[in-house]
Amino acid sequence: MGKKVFVFDISKCSGCYCCQFACKDEHAGNDFRPIAAPQPDIGQFWIKVDDFTRGKAPNVRVHYIPRMCNHCDDCKVLAAAKNGEAYRNEDGFVIIDPEKAKGNKELMNACPYGVIYWNEELDIPQKCTGCAHLLANGYKVPRCVEMCPTGALTFGDEDEMIEQTTGATVMHPEYATTPRVYYRNIPGQFIAGTVYDPEAKEIIKGAYVRAVTGGKLYELYTDGYGDFWFKDLPVGIFDVYIKAEGYKTKVFKHLWTKECLSLGDIPLEKGCDEE
Ligand code: SF4
Ligand code: SF4
Ligand code: SF4
Repeated sequence: MGKKVFVFDISKCSGCYCCQFACKDEHAGNDFRPIAAPQPDIGQFWIKVDDFTRGKAPNVRVHYIPRMCNHCDDCKVLAAAKNGEAYRNEDGFVIIDPEKAKGNKELMNACPYGVIYWNEELDIPQKCTGCAHLLANGYKVPRCVEMCPTGALTFGDEDEMIEQTTGATVMHPEYATTPRVYYRNIPGQFIAGTVYDPEAKEIIKGAYVRAVTGGKLYELYTDGYGDFWFKDLPVGIFDVYIKAEGYKTKVFKHLWTKECLSLGDIPLEKGCDEE
């Protein structure tokens, strides 16, 4: 059996929090020592779903990114565990030993991802175990994966997940820890707006909208509501041109997509472009 990986497909994540609840249900108050001591009822989320809001009204998008221990190949906590307080199991999971790690706050502080919690009552650091207690008993997947209703969270042997991990990204590659938790389809930036005729007080359907950056061209037409929405754009400086028959071309120059941009309601003036 090869080492395991987790893959989150952000485009499939509905933000239902089932993974977060499932982990709580599996571990809160349940003693799986020597792998895991009970998770407290409150204060710890071994998998935590964060929500991100992008753009501004009316062009707003929310997406969700679950975070957990990345079971990194170059785990900083393993490096700090000089006396066997943490170890890697045969599935590649980093496990903190609840007995040997007693009183050792340095382990918690060694993780650059901040995914380790301190259990005051038991005086131990705690985090995701990969549900190693389940896999050791013949379960195919951890609880959080089992409970994901959309297929956003998947899990398996590294060798069998090549298709999902190829081209995927990891959290904070600059930490140089070689994570085993991958993310797919993290959304890029967007530019959106609504095109209308201020005289007729009507939206304009089918207007041609072009966004240009560094020689790259993105094109679309406004929909039945006069809206256009360029999705998954890179960060860059864009010029946007909006053209509709019988109207002058509207131009937005030097739009910087360091954040998502809502251009709001955009009036087009009747007439022709000057040659
Ligand atoms: S996320 Fe932190 S604790 Fe988990 S493996 Fe990576 S460095 Fe270690
Ligand atoms: S693998 Fe298990 S311990 Fe880790 S986050 Fe999922 S449910 Fe929690
Ligand atoms: S259970 Fe699946 S869909 Fe729901 S928040 Fe977690 S990863 Fe996203």
